[in-house]
Amino acid sequence: MTNLLLRNIGELVTNDPALGDGSALGLIRDAALVVEAGHVVWVGPQASAPVTDVVQDLGGRAVIPGFVDSHAHLVFAGDRASEFTARMAGKPYAAGGIGSTVSATRAATDEQLTAQVARLVTEMRRQGTTTVEIKSGYGLTVTDEARSLAIARAFTEETTFLGAHVVPPEYAEDPAGYVDLVTGPMLQAAAPHARWIDAFCETGAFDADQARAVLTAGGAVGLGGRLHANQLGPGPGVQLACELGLVAVDHCTYLDDADVEALASSGTIATLLPGVEFSTRSPYPDARRLLDAGVRVALASDCNPGSCYSSSLPLCIALAVREMGMTPAEAVHAATAGGAAALGRVDIGRLSTGARAHYAVLDAPSYVHLAYRPGVPLVLEAVGR
Ligand SMILES: [Zn+2]
Repeated sequence: MTNLLLRNIGELVTNDPALGDGSALGLIRDAALVVEAGHVVWVGPQASAPVTDVVQDLGGRAVIPGFVDSHAHLVFAGDRASEFTARMAGKPYAAGGIGSTVSATRAATDEQLTAQVARLVTEMRRQGTTTVEIKSGYGLTVTDEARSLAIARAFTEETTFLGAHVVPPEYAEDPAGYVDLVTGPMLQAAAPHARWIDAFCETGAFDADQARAVLTAGGAVGLGGRLHANQLGPGPGVQLACELGLVAVDHCTYLDDADVEALASSGTIATLLPGVEFSTRSPYPDARRLLDAGVRVALASDCNPGSCYSSSLPLCIALAVREMGMTPAEAVHAATAGGAAALGRVDIGRLSTGARAHYAVLDAPSYVHLAYRPGVPLVLEAVGR
């Protein structure tokens, strides 16, 4: 079996605190890494690297674990550029804009939706993302949710059933009936294609009781729970997620002290999605407050056609550092190891022995450049899937 030595790595982020400088990033300078059968089999200082069949010299560039984007909505048709233009002219964002994407998605063919996901996954890889979670949530019928997940499944193991995204127009007068559909026939059709279940717990979408019903029903058929919460204003979602022991709760923009305490004591990961605040011109979540309280934080894109049509984790890192009080090290950790933890994964998001060899080579000497050089395409190569 051939093995590959990556040599002359100027700075290697391992995310293993037992390695290198002993920080959370486990940083090794002048490093080398050996890959065999898709896994990392050796990592350490270049001076003690073993002999291998194949050698790739990285010329002093930095290598980081591939980004793990734990929150994305990629199965959709159409775009909402005109809504974005209106919002930038002063019209506020509301959850109801999702309806126009639902209409376009229902009208699209499987081939059109597949091509759209393929295009976005490729776009993400060019920016260093090697694992992406993909949600349904723009079909909102039994058939369209199941097909959205079947399409997503061709691209990732991390598929999430989000029938509880919004109440579709045909159920506007009967939201309870829609929750019955989501927790009944729609869940049955979606579950074979999904690993996770999610709900949008927000004014204008689903309240805490409805979100609880959805997550509980998903749990009963073996799906892990995640939740959109506290995005547009304060609400019960974060505490619900902590009470249910969910692996992650996403957005976390409007939090009170009890929410922060619940996150810190439950271990539920707060996934921050700053591309949304950037794209909706909204206040950013206070990452510093969460980190100082001992909350585990992930960064993800929330790539979707409405509130954030960016697939870029380098952009999220730059925003987290510039606007949210995170250090470059904390932001890179949150977009790699944090994303992996938010998906319950230990085989990705790190580059130490036994991990999958999912990594990104930066055309830069340090991971810090991801925040220091915003908007610059620094990812030279993303490897592993
Ligand atoms: Zn989302």
